[in-house]
Amino acid sequence: MSAFDNAMTQLGLAAEKLGLKESDILKLREPNKVYEFDIPVQIDDGYEKIFNGYRVQFNNARGPYKGGIRYHPQVDLDEMKALAFWMAIKTAVVNIPMGGGKGGVSVDPKKLSKSELEKLSRGWVQKMAEHIGPRKDVPAPDVNTTPQIMAWMSDEYAKLTNDSSGATFTGKPLDKGGSEGRESATGQGGFYCLDEITKRLSMNPSQTCIIIHGFGNVGFHFARLVHDAGYKIVGLSDSKGGIYNADGLDVDDVMRVKKDKGSVINYEAEKIGGSAILEKQCDILVPAALENVITKDNADKIKAKVVLEMANGPTTPEADKILRDKGVYVVPDVLANAGGVTVSYFEWQQNLASEHWSESDVLAKLEPIMRKSFNAVWKAHEEHNIDLRTAAFMLAVKRIVSAMK
Ligand code: NAD
Repeated sequence: MSAFDNAMTQLGLAAEKLGLKESDILKLREPNKVYEFDIPVQIDDGYEKIFNGYRVQFNNARGPYKGGIRYHPQVDLDEMKALAFWMAIKTAVVNIPMGGGKGGVSVDPKKLSKSELEKLSRGWVQKMAEHIGPRKDVPAPDVNTTPQIMAWMSDEYAKLTNDSSGATFTGKPLDKGGSEGRESATGQGGFYCLDEITKRLSMNPSQTCIIIHGFGNVGFHFARLVHDAGYKIVGLSDSKGGIYNADGLDVDDVMRVKKDKGSVINYEAEKIGGSAILEKQCDILVPAALENVITKDNADKIKAKVVLEMANGPTTPEADKILRDKGVYVVPDVLANAGGVTVSYFEWQQNLASEHWSESDVLAKLEPIMRKSFNAVWKAHEEHNIDLRTAAFMLAVKRIVSAMK
């Protein structure tokens, strides 16, 4: 099944529990707008290459469309629709006044030079400028898009529209209107969820082993926070493979090796395949890379008691069922990784009000939102005797349907 099929299955489960009318379900299944466009880029050695660009504006009943821009060879319309839908659910789970959107380019950015990457990023904005804006659609970073890319995009938007508020793109560098705490926000939000669930399951940090699949922006910041809080990180992986050490890994040391030598696999530890690491012994498994990594083929082999989804869409509905039957708690992406969009919302608020908040102010606002959202999801899970994903979807769908009306 495709990522969008998976998303629609998840919606179906929540809609059934809510007893939603067919007409409401149909409205929730359809994106409001889909943009697909060519982005011509002059390659350094002279010729012009065309890339496929996308933006899906799924639902804006609760506020402007909000969601990242992904640069990856796997980007296609189905993936964009799934990710945009999940953004609408996510902003509703944490109850911030924004909707859901997602964009991207089908490209391997590692094969582009810096100047080609800049041209591609500015090209995306040239095609989308009239359809985005502080009150319409506010993009952000996602896989392989960085604060620097957001700075180019924000600058191009300002040139084309004369709007220099900076409030159209979030995840910008600090000196270009970015927010304190944005880079680590997704990891930070996941950390609050981890703290909530381990308390409920009486798991002691020093005796809790964690494996993190994906060691980019989200995986690294999450790893650093849990390492500092005394949890033991026994496994880490990136696109080249994974490493495992039952006695624990030093996150900063691994990151230093990854920066110097390109991958975690160059670190001195037992080497293990990128997907095999999902099946190694641990208490908490944290997918933090891409979609569909926990499927019906490997769900049964997962040993963790908790799966904390920092990536979007890492678990398929079939795998969800297998994990549920085994008694594994899955803290869903639409809750666990919502710290990023929440701080993006703070960045947007700061840009509109020409303010700059301190990191402690940002964290003081983020923490209660994440803990309150976790509590609300947990309460619905207990009240209705359902898994945490369906509980989160029920809360969100109720809010979106009420706003649509
Ligand atoms: P990133 O580009 O910084 O990092 C992605 C990481 O995944 C890299 O370490 C890469 O090597 C690894 N990876 C890629 N393919 C892999 C594979 N097959 N096996 C193992 N690792 C693999 O991206 P990111 O911003 O950290 O995003 C990661 C996930 O988190 C995505 O699903 C994204 O949608 C989600 N997310 C990101 C944010 C954010 O603020 N950046 C917010 C919410 C959710």
